[in-house]
Amino acid sequence: MSCLFCMLAKGEIHSDIVFEDDEIIAFRDINPQAPHHILVIPRRHIATVNDANSEDAALIGKLTLAAQRVAKDLSVAEDGYRLVMNCNDHGGQTVFHLHLHLLAGRPMHWPPG
Ligand code: AMP
Ligand code: ZN
Repeated sequence: MSCLFCMLAKGEIHSDIVFEDDEIIAFRDINPQAPHHILVIPRRHIATVNDANSEDAALIGKLTLAAQRVAKDLSVAEDGYRLVMNCNDHGGQTVFHLHLHLLAGRPMHWPPG
């Protein structure tokens, strides 16, 4: 199985990394939708939120904490930011390796389109 984000997590494809540890990597989105647009992913392949299970609970929690840390590092935590996880067709998911979008640097609109 060839997965873009698995390759990126292994360093086989270049990315602009802002945070990484043994389980998680965070990098800048190639097509940013905000002044700061970071993708936070598990190194381990999970295709969609639908494919996560109770064994992944801690890992998914760590994605949120990694996003919090990146937001603080980028000095956008106090102004605020948006965390988004798209799932499948109606969610607008295009890369089928679970990821958390961190969007920051401008006011976000609600409801989303
Ligand atoms: P989603 O639509 O939620 O699946 O988000 C996938 C995101 O991956 C999109 O925002 C893309 O711009 C982004 N993306 C695709 N390829 C790359 C890449 N090589 N490096 C960084 N971001 C990418
Ligand atoms: Zn993958």
